[in-house]
Amino acid sequence: MHEKCGVVGISLQDRDAARPLYYSLYALQHRGQEAAGIVTHDGFQQHSHVETGLVGDVFDEGDLGQLNGENGIGHVRYPTSGALDKSCAQPFSVSFKSGSLGLSHNGNLVNADEVRDELAELGHAFTSDGDTEVIAHDLARNLLEEDLVRAVKRTMGRIHGSYSLTIMHDDTVLGVRDPKGNRPLVIGELEDGYVLASESAAIDTLDGELVRDVEPGELVVLHPDGTGYDSYQLIEEDSTAHCFFEHVYFARPDSNIDGTLVYDARRELGRRLYAEAGIDTDVVMPVPDSGRAFASGYAEAAQDAGVDVNFAEGLMKNRYVGRTFIMPTQDERERAVRLKLNPIKNTVKGKRVTLIDDSIVRGTTSTQLVELMRDAGAEEVHVRIGAPPIVAPCYMGIDMATREELIASDMSVEEIRETIHADSLAYLSVDAIAETLDQQRDDLCLGCVTGEYPYDIDGEATDREVERPVIQSSLADD
Ligand code: 5GP
Ligand code: MG
Repeated sequence: MHEKCGVVGISLQDRDAARPLYYSLYALQHRGQEAAGIVTHDGFQQHSHVETGLVGDVFDEGDLGQLNGENGIGHVRYPTSGALDKSCAQPFSVSFKSGSLGLSHNGNLVNADEVRDELAELGHAFTSDGDTEVIAHDLARNLLEEDLVRAVKRTMGRIHGSYSLTIMHDDTVLGVRDPKGNRPLVIGELEDGYVLASESAAIDTLDGELVRDVEPGELVVLHPDGTGYDSYQLIEEDSTAHCFFEHVYFARPDSNIDGTLVYDARRELGRRLYAEAGIDTDVVMPVPDSGRAFASGYAEAAQDAGVDVNFAEGLMKNRYVGRTFIMPTQDERERAVRLKLNPIKNTVKGKRVTLIDDSIVRGTTSTQLVELMRDAGAEEVHVRIGAPPIVAPCYMGIDMATREELIASDMSVEEIRETIHADSLAYLSVDAIAETLDQQRDDLCLGCVTGEYPYDIDGEATDREVERPVIQSSLADD
């Protein structure tokens, strides 16, 4: 299951968590539109409401009213390429001898099948083929023998891959970030409680304060009475593997991730894009919404260099069309782009235009937009992209496309330029990404742009020394 999702967990002093969880999921809606769910605990039992659909459609007043308890977790799930499947919607919740568990997972395990096979042999029955259920069963098993902190540590020692988790064990809410910190997870403080969330924008929505990022390999345990939290650094590794694509595309611009405000990062990437591959045209135009911050940085850098360039929002977006990726066939995807974006002809006619977007995945958007610009009378159309070519798939939770679908997996930049019919095309360098995010290359996950991954993935190359846990022996020791 390759999912990019949003997770949240909340513990409050004297107030039900359902409503703040609901608002948080609204703030994280961009991270997943297929399904949404909340699981709360009232001190005696769990309450759960999980359904396919957008947050606003999944919950009504009555649903929120029955989600009793001051502690809870929530989840929004991204559409995967497969059919809608409610058994994979989250939070995943289950009751064991060791208590009740709820789990919300953002990321993707690389060795889920190995852990699942072993647990199945030990008698665990699985209801979905998702990796989140694997984590739940492993944790439940460990909880029979260990206290909470040790049980989480043991599970972390067995699973390999990317995970930001919010977990509820009875009425205790926990947050866990994988040892490489691949997906974001932050802690926030409210007047009357604490929040764990994928992005700080969720904390802002609740009028809270961002405390800090959860550290890679850290477990954060919120006090069920909402008065504080405890931190345990359970696993330490030499390098991290923060996903750069969170900053480029996925996260909200108003979120702060691993010390960087996403909006600032995108603007700086745009500035660097001009420095590396700037071309002077009459108009610089963002592809809304994802290209906006890049284009404003790009145009600003051009203006700083004394170029008289016109920054124009010349593409109008129809807000009511879902993300193009939801469309299953190529034909429908193409129609969706046309539905979604319409040029303001006056800003384009007779002009040399530079279109700025954050990324090219299949090439659908750029191909359509270049054609649209020409139809609207543009004299030249240049395309500048605020990320390097995406040459390989993501196994870490961003389900962008298979290798065959990725236009850059087997085409040079010049071949792509020809395919999308642009007068020129340039991408940003990998080094510009690392410098802008103030990270060493080795502390980022760059798998989709280098083809070398920071995890041990079957059939793929790795860019560092990584090993999967050996599953069969791990039950015996520690
Ligand atoms: P393409 O049309 O080349 O397949 O996709 C590029 C466009 O999709 C860009 O405008 C970019 O903002 C957006 N995009 C990039 N990655 C993703 C993704 O993982 N999901 C969705 N929905 N859009 C993406
Ligand atoms: Mg876009």
